[in-house]
Amino acid sequence: MIIDIGDKCVECKNDTSPGSGRFVNRIPAGNDEFEGYLCTECRLMTCEICNEEVIDYGGYNGMIVCDDCNPEEDEDEETEKKVDSSPQLF
Ligand SMILES: [Zn+2]
Ligand SMILES: [Zn+2]
Repeated sequence: MIIDIGDKCVECKNDTSPGSGRFVNRIPAGNDEFEGYLCTECRLMTCEICNEEVIDYGGYNGMIVCDDCNPEEDEDEETEKKVDSSPQLF
C-alpha cells in the first residue's frame, strides 16, 4: 500500500511545503511505499565528469553527467539553433 505523505519528501521525509525552504525545486515523486515530493537535496546527483552536484542531469555513456557536460545535450542545442536560424521557406 502506498502512503500519501503530502508535502514531505519521499526520500528524506523533510517537509517541502511553501515556507520550508524546499518548496521551490521540489518535484512530485513516489516510490513503492510513499507518494509525495522529492526535495532539492534528494534530487542532486554528482556529475561524473565535473563532480559538481547538479539537479539537471542525464545519462551519457552509462555515466551520470550534468547538462553542461553532456555532449548529447550540446548536439541537441546546436540542432535547435540550426533550425531556428534556417531561412523560412514559406
Ligand atoms: Zn529529500
Ligand atoms: Zn558536469
